[in-house]
Amino acid sequence: MSKEVIIVGGGLAGISAALEALECGMRPIVLEKSHSLGGRARSLYARDVKAPIDHGQHLLSASYHHTLQLLQKLGTLSLIAFQKRLFIHFIFPEGQSIAFRAYNIPPPFHFLLPLLVRPEISWKEKLGLIQNGLRIFQQKPPQRASLTVEDWIRPPRPHSTLKMILWQPLSLAVLNTPMEEASARLLRNAFRMGFLSSNKRSGLGFPQKDLSQIFGEPARKYILKHGGSVYIRTQIRRLIIENDRVKAVVGPQGKVFETPALVLALPPDALQPLLKPHADRLADVWNALQVFRFSPIVTINIWTQRPIEHPLPIAFVDSPFHWLVHLPWVFHRTGFQGYAVVSSAASRLAACSAEAIMEQLRNVFQRCLGLDLDRDLHLKQYKIIKEKRATIIQTPRADSVRPRSRTRISNLVLAGDWIQTHFPATIESAVISGKMAIRSLRC
Ligand SMILES: Cc1cc2nc3c(=O)[nH]c(=O)nc-3n(C[C@H](O)[C@H](O)[C@H](O)COP(=O)(O)OP(=O)(O)OC[C@H]3O[C@@H](n4cnc5c(N)ncnc54)[C@H](O)[C@@H]3O)c2cc1C
Repeated sequence: MSKEVIIVGGGLAGISAALEALECGMRPIVLEKSHSLGGRARSLYARDVKAPIDHGQHLLSASYHHTLQLLQKLGTLSLIAFQKRLFIHFIFPEGQSIAFRAYNIPPPFHFLLPLLVRPEISWKEKLGLIQNGLRIFQQKPPQRASLTVEDWIRPPRPHSTLKMILWQPLSLAVLNTPMEEASARLLRNAFRMGFLSSNKRSGLGFPQKDLSQIFGEPARKYILKHGGSVYIRTQIRRLIIENDRVKAVVGPQGKVFETPALVLALPPDALQPLLKPHADRLADVWNALQVFRFSPIVTINIWTQRPIEHPLPIAFVDSPFHWLVHLPWVFHRTGFQGYAVVSSAASRLAACSAEAIMEQLRNVFQRCLGLDLDRDLHLKQYKIIKEKRATIIQTPRADSVRPRSRTRISNLVLAGDWIQTHFPATIESAVISGKMAIRSLRC
């Protein structure tokens, strides 16, 4: 193995960069601030409930081509249960429901037809859906990059069914941004890659174990086994740049790590203090960093004695909560049923107390599912995880300034879900960015 590369940040972008570096015959050295790898997609051990809890509920898509490759390498692909065909059970505030299941017919009709037969959707909306669906499927040139999802689909009525069961939930789930602000270009790309590309790749993937057993821990073992190094609890505080090249990074107690090549696989807020002293040299990246704002996700983990009998996953329509999914491993660890309720773009909910959030959840369960959390499900425990900076807010403006991996400093490259991968800031974007970063070093 020849050249060393230091990778700062052991989230999925850093893990992907490390695996790509190994592939290229380089020796990766991963420096991670926290006590484990995985970043935002990891689990924490919750002492009070004596079980791991994911940092936030994560769903994958069968179309996450690069992530699936990474999982295959780590030997953990079988820990994600993929739907054979996309299924989502939409439930409206008064309890009416739509069970959406993609058909087993060629794309894009596998996705469009189940919507076109719904009597709740007006003819005008159906026509718009066919036009937009075919346009995306045929890969017509992108419309104006400045369009929001709302501008793009121009819903005929503020509460049109299609807006409520398709565009708004998708904007929230995929972009963590309401459709009124979300970038249409990014949603189109996600659509093209995912739901519309093939009926086999339209399904959602549900982790069957806690996230650290799927990503972080197997990645650490893989990197060590193949000759790389991993330093945890190692927060990098400073970069040493001389003559337009990175010489070293400085960690805890002033420890210096010299390096011929550096990948900064960090989210924008963690990158900012490191780049501040070099803002002039890296003005384009620095200016982009000033544009990003963050959007929270709130995940409520509940443990119940009785199971929820409704088909899952549930997407709550027009509700402060968006998804309800089953956590199968909780039962093996605790003997209770585990569920996660997710709220995206959740600034209002994130500002509420735990009691206020649980009161709203009880109301939604009662109204939408006809279930009393205590009487019917025998709620045993709950744990609320508020991730205030879950992702960047993915507006057209933010999308337009996402930087590329390569920087003006030839041996310094960037990775992270927010780098310009042309996909929304998700696991897949993080994994793609890690590969792009190593390839930008021209290994
Ligand atoms: C609650 C929640 C739910 C989500 N749901 C989904 C989902 O369903 N599907 C999906 O595809 N995506 C989802 N995402 C997004 C997904 O988690 C991220 O896109 C992805 O994990 C980002 O990976 P990353 O490596 O770019 O960044 P991160 O995971 O943030 O990794 C950065 C790493 O750098 C470390 N670090 C920071 N500063 C330093 C420093 N100075 N020195 C050393 N290390 C440092 C951090 O500790 C961290 O480990 C969700 C995110 C959240 C928060």
